[in-house]
Amino acid sequence: MRVIDCDCGQTLRAANDDDLATEVREHADEGHPDMQLTDDQARELVVDRAYEASDS
Ligand SMILES: [Zn+2]
Repeated sequence: MRVIDCDCGQTLRAANDDDLATEVREHADEGHPDMQLTDDQARELVVDRAYEASDS
């Protein structure tokens, strides 16, 4: 399980980095439209800030 904490305090989770980048994109579109986050930027955020979490 891959996890990333958004600056707004929301935690996003996905099975892998590709899916997590998609989650980040969708979250940004819904919650932070001003960011105008691109797919590439979402992927970079995941690379920089995502971490591994247990499934508990
Ligand atoms: Zn957010």
